[in-house]
Amino acid sequence: MSLDKRWIVVIALAAVAGAYYWFDLGSYLSLDFVKSRQAELEAWRASRPLAAAAAFFLVYVAVTAVSLPGATIMTLAAGAIFGLGWGLLIVSFASTIGATLAFLASRTLFRGWVQARFGDRLRAVNAGVERDGAFYLFTLRLVPAFPFFLINLAMGLTPIRASTFYWVSQVGMLAGTVVYVNAGTQLAQVDSLAGIASPGLLGSFALLGVFPLVARKALDFFQARRVYARWQRPARFDRNLVVIGAGSAGLVTAYIAAAVRAKVTLVEKHRMGGDCLNTGCVPSKALIRSAKLLSHVARANEFGVRHAEAEFEFADLMDRVKRVIGEIEPHDSIERYTGLGVDVVEGSARIVSPWEVEIERHDGSVQRLTTRSIVVATGARPFVPPIPGIDQVGYLTSDTLWELRELPKRLVVIGGGPIGCELTQAFARLGSQVTQVEMLPRIMAREDPEVSEIVAKRFAAEGVRVLAGHAATRFEIDGGEKVLVAQRRGAGPAEEVRIPFDTLLVAVGRAANLEGFGLEEIGVRVGRTVETNAFLQTNYPNIYAAGDVAGPFQFTHTASHQAWYAAVNALFDPIRKFRADYSVIPWATFVEPEVARVGLNEQEAREKGIAFEVTVYGIDDLDRAIADEEAHGFVKVLTVPGKDRILGVTIVGEHAGDLIAEYVLAMKHRIGLNRILGTIHIYPTLAEANKYAAGAWKRAHAPERVLRWLERFHAWRRGAGAGDAR
Ligand SMILES: Cc1cc2nc3c(=O)[nH]c(=O)nc-3n(C[C@H](O)[C@H](O)[C@H](O)COP(=O)(O)OP(=O)(O)OC[C@H]3O[C@@H](n4cnc5c(N)ncnc54)[C@H](O)[C@@H]3O)c2cc1C
Repeated sequence: MSLDKRWIVVIALAAVAGAYYWFDLGSYLSLDFVKSRQAELEAWRASRPLAAAAAFFLVYVAVTAVSLPGATIMTLAAGAIFGLGWGLLIVSFASTIGATLAFLASRTLFRGWVQARFGDRLRAVNAGVERDGAFYLFTLRLVPAFPFFLINLAMGLTPIRASTFYWVSQVGMLAGTVVYVNAGTQLAQVDSLAGIASPGLLGSFALLGVFPLVARKALDFFQARRVYARWQRPARFDRNLVVIGAGSAGLVTAYIAAAVRAKVTLVEKHRMGGDCLNTGCVPSKALIRSAKLLSHVARANEFGVRHAEAEFEFADLMDRVKRVIGEIEPHDSIERYTGLGVDVVEGSARIVSPWEVEIERHDGSVQRLTTRSIVVATGARPFVPPIPGIDQVGYLTSDTLWELRELPKRLVVIGGGPIGCELTQAFARLGSQVTQVEMLPRIMAREDPEVSEIVAKRFAAEGVRVLAGHAATRFEIDGGEKVLVAQRRGAGPAEEVRIPFDTLLVAVGRAANLEGFGLEEIGVRVGRTVETNAFLQTNYPNIYAAGDVAGPFQFTHTASHQAWYAAVNALFDPIRKFRADYSVIPWATFVEPEVARVGLNEQEAREKGIAFEVTVYGIDDLDRAIADEEAHGFVKVLTVPGKDRILGVTIVGEHAGDLIAEYVLAMKHRIGLNRILGTIHIYPTLAEANKYAAGAWKRAHAPERVLRWLERFHAWRRGAGAGDAR
């Protein structure tokens, strides 16, 4: 809203409030005054009923819109002057219109500011109001103990729609209005306002107020019952929990279930450990490590070494990748989990009813288990876009890449997200000529623009051809050579770019595994992922989902984080259940320089309208980074304006993924920059960058006035004159 409109609201409010106090209108809005003038007021209404009703209505609207005291007295007066029927009609509409005006004024004047300043803390409140705002408001309206004007002003700060506010207020206030207007019809007997709102009456209102919440719970209960209506619930269960998929989410779910002595079966149709161990984090990080060694050899003279050369076979590197997987494999093995008390079954699971899972074992036998709860942890797979010609040229994905035995000579990578970037740089360092094609105007588009720029520059310096703003439109085979035809987007006419290549790697995102195991047959609601509520429950409350199949994140650590909630909720609902907490989610992209983030970056803060301050510490200045020849990158901290509370951190530089842990802890436990600054960091380490970023913030917030006084104090101690502070 423009400043002008806000001024109009301020002037209107000030005018009404000014008139109220100038003409001492408050003295007319007392019980004694109304009682003493009751006969005159009634005579006025009898002689000019319409004018009296209209005038009363307008004054009531004005008093409530400006949140002036007197609405209760006016409600009594309405009963005294107009009787129950007309009094109720006038007050019901006047109070709701006045309340809505107060709500709109609060929204116009304060909502933007409050949301900008406290938006991150209000996220849960906003989500709750968007979901259940009408219920909350209805409850508050039913209980007249909650101050009427405060509800108007507070609700104006939330995202509730004005129309919802209006009708819920009108209906919700009706019971209280009836009581007060009715009391007004017997005004002579009313001695005090407290007498009307007796403890008994307030208690009844409180019960009435709880009613919608109870009704809501009951509704949820019956809706949940409805989805089960067509199924026969087993009388007893073979298992407390069946977990489908033994990736990061499934393994942790089963681990927790076994730890609390539940009977749990974990079903895996392919390889224990899922994507992370077999085709994701582990192999990619192993390959990236070998590639990094080669990049150091290429940079040998930066380290004072005149000449260094590395001789290697690509197949040997891929063998190393397999060896690394093999070394980590025991952490996720059947033996380990069986030892922990999990019943691990190798086979394909299918949900046949909300309480039954059928498992086709690898040996062909079929087993059907009844279970109280199910956790779906089936993960995701690489998404392959239907670009014309893609099947003719053939392609690799993160699933198939690890079987390569020969280094691709000319590699095209489609996708500028984390997986595309990590593999682009790794293959370029191994010696492939890599062209990376990204449709968006920059790679790593989720991060702030300078992050993308640093990474793209580094890629270019290492020989990668980065084609951001290029959409892959088709593949061709031209004279026996594979060609990607891409269209350059941006200002000016679109231009076709032809990129000949030998091998194509598709890394444009991952699609949740939703089909083929019974979700659609039994009617579990899905979109791009399985739809879950805050407790990770599907529309069948005993079926949960966690990990990549549930989203919204696609990381191993978020999969295990969700797994805790899915396991505990699946085993202990309805006794106790927990909402999944996504307030502090960190991640890293393992390119060089590494990029790590927790919380907000600048572009997200702007999108969400959250006010922030930025502090940047350049790692080029850090002693250890200089000694390591890694003096580049930065720590960027977003804080609440004027405060040291952290809203988000982006770190670009060597070991950024490790360095960010300190800020993750700080955000999770609300530790501010002052306390990070007051913590000893070992010299010389990269972790000192965190402390220096806190120091940069502190310098920018130095208490100038106190420092000026201190300067004078020291001058005085030196015996210097008043004008000789320095
Ligand atoms: C190249 C690459 C690099 C990555 N790097 C990182 C990283 O550095 N850090 C990070 O945090 N994340 C990374 N990820 C993401 C990470 O791998 C995933 O987020 C994580 O594996 C998700 O775990 P999940 O348990 O949800 O699914 P998955 O690991 O995919 O496990 C699902 C399992 O379910 C099984 N399954 C499916 N259907 C059935 C069925 N009907 N019956 C029985 N079993 C079934 C599958 O076989 C699979 O084993 C990377 C991913 C890729 C592809």
